[in-house]
Amino acid sequence: MKALKILFENNAEWVRSRTADDPEFFSRMTGQQLPEFLWIGCSDSRVPANEIVGLDPGRVFVHRNVANLFPHTDINSLSVLEYAIDLLKIRHVIVCGHYGCGGVKAAMEDHQLGLVDNWLRNIRDVYAQSKNELEGIEDEQERYDRLVELNVTQQVLNICHTTIVQGAWERKQPLFVHGWIYDIRTGKLKDLDCCISGVDQVDSVYRIKLPPQ
Ligand SMILES: [Zn+2]
Repeated sequence: MKALKILFENNAEWVRSRTADDPEFFSRMTGQQLPEFLWIGCSDSRVPANEIVGLDPGRVFVHRNVANLFPHTDINSLSVLEYAIDLLKIRHVIVCGHYGCGGVKAAMEDHQLGLVDNWLRNIRDVYAQSKNELEGIEDEQERYDRLVELNVTQQVLNICHTTIVQGAWERKQPLFVHGWIYDIRTGKLKDLDCCISGVDQVDSVYRIKLPPQ
């Protein structure tokens, strides 16, 4: 695996520079992690969670998948969310989509890609729900950008519809669920201002009466 040698060299250099700046850095990492944020982002290689927000290892609990989805039947996403909220007690869940998302683009087209088509069906559902708004946008790029935003908003709602999040609110654990967009063209983050922090902001259809905790 000579081709990957560079990655080990990079790693050695990273360790050197980290410890030069902060000799206690790795000894601090051996304790319990106490991240304040759960990041749910896209797997896209251009959107590295920690780097974008300038946070060191240990500060962000990260879950990434194609097109930053949170389907309500996905055991992987649900497990991450439960662990982050119930055990790590994180206060902020951030769903971060990005303009130029290949997953969102694929969901706007009719080509077959493979297994991922089933995953991306979630985005087609978002499109179908907002079809009138989206098809009223003439510019294709603008329509694409808007679907990226609507997809994030929907995932924020999906997260708030879980018993995990509603359970945290029920026991008065402070929890904020945010929707952001990363612009790969500029490197800048945009807040979609769709933050939800209590069950009163959730549609009554999705409210679940939880047993006393
Ligand atoms: Zn993406």
